[in-house]
Amino acid sequence: MSRETKRHDLAVVGGGPAGLAAAERLAEAGHTVTVHERMPSVARRLLIAGRGGLNLTHGEALPDFLARYHPAGSLEAAIRAFPPEALRAWCEGLGQPTFVGSSGRVFPKVFKASPLLRAWLARLDRLGVRVRTRHRLAGIEGRTLVIDTPEGQVRHAPAAALLALGGASWPRLGSDGSWVGLLEGLGVPVAPLRPANVGFRVAWSEIFRARFAGEPVKRVALSASGRRVLGEMVVTETGIEGGAVYALGRVLREGAEADGSATLALDLRPDLAEADLTARLARSRPGESAASRLRKAAGLAPVAAGLLRESEGGPLPAEPAALAARIKAARLTLAGPEPIARAISTAGGLQGIDARFMLPGRPGLFAAGEMLDWEAPTGGYLLQGAFASGRAAAEGMLGWLAEVGDRDGGAA
Ligand SMILES: Cc1cc2nc3c(=O)[nH]c(=O)nc-3n(C[C@H](O)[C@H](O)[C@H](O)COP(=O)(O)OP(=O)(O)OC[C@H]3O[C@@H](n4cnc5c(N)ncnc54)[C@H](O)[C@@H]3O)c2cc1C
Repeated sequence: MSRETKRHDLAVVGGGPAGLAAAERLAEAGHTVTVHERMPSVARRLLIAGRGGLNLTHGEALPDFLARYHPAGSLEAAIRAFPPEALRAWCEGLGQPTFVGSSGRVFPKVFKASPLLRAWLARLDRLGVRVRTRHRLAGIEGRTLVIDTPEGQVRHAPAAALLALGGASWPRLGSDGSWVGLLEGLGVPVAPLRPANVGFRVAWSEIFRARFAGEPVKRVALSASGRRVLGEMVVTETGIEGGAVYALGRVLREGAEADGSATLALDLRPDLAEADLTARLARSRPGESAASRLRKAAGLAPVAAGLLRESEGGPLPAEPAALAARIKAARLTLAGPEPIARAISTAGGLQGIDARFMLPGRPGLFAAGEMLDWEAPTGGYLLQGAFASGRAAAEGMLGWLAEVGDRDGGAA
C-alpha cells in the first residue's frame, strides 16, 4: 500500500468462492477485511462441488467460453480480466496444480476441494482477513450492515461492503436467497430466482419408473428450440437430469414458463443416420418381437427402449421408416423444472450493477457471484464466474475507494 493510500475497514458478506476471492484481493491491497458468513464454516458449496471432482473451470478457447454465460453482462469483462488460465495459476500458487480432462474440464490434480480451501484459508489468515462465522446479514442501513450473531445483533459500518450471498439452490449449504427481500426493500432490482442446471419433471408410467429410475442413458442427443446437445442423461423417479439436460436447461425452462410444459426430442441412436437405422430395422426377422427388434436391430439399451415407449405418439409403429424416425426424435413432454432447492445453480438475481459491480443508487455497496443475474451450464463455468466476479468487484471497490475514499470512506 502506498503512503498516500488509506487503510480502509471493508466488509465482505458471504464466504463462498466469490466472497473469499474478493476478500483476498482487498486484503492484498492492504485493507482491513472482515468476512461475515452465516454458516459455522465458509465455502460449504465449494466443498460439496469437490465431492464428485472439483470442476474449477474449462479449457476451451475464450470466445467459446464466454458464449456460455447468459446474460454475459459485466461478467465478460470480469472473466477477461481473470480468465481460466489465471484461475489455474492461482490454484497452482496454493500448491494445487490442475489438469484438463478429456472433456476439456479443468480439475485440481487431487480432484478434491478441501486441500485447496485449507491452503486458501491459511493465505487469507496470513493476509489478516478476519472470518466471522455465524454472522448473518439481517439488514442494510446506508452502508451499515446489521448482523445477527450468536451474541446478539451487531452493526458494522465499513467504508465499503461487498455482498456475495449466492443463489437459492441447495439452501442447507447457506445460500437460500433470503437476501432478495432485503435488497428489493432497498430499491435494488432483482430478477426472480429460478432453478438452473436442474432436472425436469416427466409423468412416467409406473412401470417405467419402477424399472428405470436411476439408470443412465449414455450417448443421447437432446434437442429443443433448434438447439441440439450430445451427452448423457439420467432417468430419475420424477423425470430426467444430467449434463445434456442441463445444457438445454435455459431454453427448456423458458419454454415451460411460457407454455406450461416443454417438449424435448431425444435421438436415441445419435451415431446412426436415420436411413441406416431404417435399413437395419427392415432386415429384422418376420415375427420377431418388438422388444427384440429394438434391442438387436436398433441396438437400444433397455432404458432407451423404455424411453421410446414413454414418448409421445402412441404405440410404436411397426413399419421400419416410421420406427426409425421415432427412435431419432422421440418426444417427451417436460412438466417443468424441479424445485430450485434441487438445482445446482440459480438463474435470475441482482440486476443493474455498474461496470464496477456497484449496486444501483447504493454508493459503496458492491455485489458478486451467483447472486448476480447470470447463468451458465455445468463444466466449470459457475466457479469461474464466481471467482472472476469476486475479483472484479474487489477491483471495482478499490477503484471507487481511490476516487472517493478520502472524502467518503472511513479509515480503519
Ligand atoms: C452439488 C453442487 C455441485 C457443484 N459443482 C460445481 C462444479 O464442479 N463446478 C462449478 O463450476 N460449479 C459447481 N457448483 C456451483 C458452485 O458451487 C457455485 O456456483 C459457487 O459456489 C457460487 O459461489 P458464490 O460465492 O457466488 O456463492 P456460494 O458458494 O453459495 O456462497 C455464498 C455464501 O454466502 C453465505 N450467505 C448467504 N446468505 C448470507 C447472509 N444473509 N449472511 C451471511 N452469509 C450469507 C452462504 O452461507 C455462503 O457461504 C456446484 C454446486 C452444487 C450445489
